[in-house]
Amino acid sequence: MRQILYFLLLISTSILAQDQGARNCSFVASKLSFDRNVQIEITNVVTIPVHIIVVHKDNEQIGQGRNLTDAQIISQFSVLNQDFRRLNPDTNNTPSEFLPVAADCMIEFCLADTDPDGNPTNGITRYVYNSNNVTENYLDQTIKPATIWNPDYYLNIWTARISDDGYAYMPSDGVPSYMDGVVVRDTYFGFGGSAQLPFDRGHMATHEIGHYLGLFHTWGPFSGCTIGDGISDTPDQQNYYYDCPSYPQNSCGSSDMFMNYMDYVDDACLNLFTEGQKIAMHNTIQNGRPGLLQSYGCSSVDPISITEINIKENKKLIKSINVFGKEISKHTKNQILFYIYNDGSVEKMFFN
Ligand code: ZN
Ligand code: CA
Repeated sequence: MRQILYFLLLISTSILAQDQGARNCSFVASKLSFDRNVQIEITNVVTIPVHIIVVHKDNEQIGQGRNLTDAQIISQFSVLNQDFRRLNPDTNNTPSEFLPVAADCMIEFCLADTDPDGNPTNGITRYVYNSNNVTENYLDQTIKPATIWNPDYYLNIWTARISDDGYAYMPSDGVPSYMDGVVVRDTYFGFGGSAQLPFDRGHMATHEIGHYLGLFHTWGPFSGCTIGDGISDTPDQQNYYYDCPSYPQNSCGSSDMFMNYMDYVDDACLNLFTEGQKIAMHNTIQNGRPGLLQSYGCSSVDPISITEINIKENKKLIKSINVFGKEISKHTKNQILFYIYNDGSVEKMFFN
């Protein structure tokens, strides 16, 4: 049954989000060409470099309307690094029956300090679009291509006055790379400050990044009890919840995990990812977004340490660098790297 999930192509779930007050997320589920549930040992925290694009009107100075302050943007990173490490202050609100599966997902996020050309940056691009509302089509087809940084190496997040609350794309061959990334309505970005109820605690971005890293909603791509989210430790659930339900709520013969970040309830009532979701997200990074593991978008973050590889008996590889001279520990497809050996020799390598 689980395999069915991987054959659902481009299913927009926006039709499921018509209730007043529900998180209105129109993420696009894609076919994933790998198994998200392969058990992998996760020993290192993965840090994902992020590029923020603030879409605002010309007459909005920083701090006005859509033109979010740097502080508002930075507050979003505090939330992400709490939510994905289970350092959120409301972990004690997780019902005890779900504590055994509540996960430190071992994923962190940094505002990029190095742009794709290797130059210093504050990681924030401000983009003027003089319209009261931004359609998803205009954002995807015009604003994104004009502002995106190489999505192989950066998570791009746009904040804009969209009609939905947020949307994201799973990694897929079916989605053009210029559209990849996460969009969050500007009024629901960051913690407090200009963020508005009921999504004023920064979990909208947490939710959308969950999709970006291969997660479905907890109730699955469809309502009902037959097709779930493909994650074994999130209980089967009939449909989404909204507002802030009292605990417990039951459907499909079990207690529902409506406080999971991948449900639709208010920010104040969300507090966990599960171990199964953690595995799925790391599988998605390794198989669907491997470039994130070798990005130099955040130079302050130590790259993955290079392992000494015996290429020939009499010389050892001490460093591999890319064409920009940056140290790279793993190669990707169609990449040229220069291997530097301890005897001073250099070898040009092409990986196909
Ligand atoms: Zn969603
Ligand atoms: Ca499940």
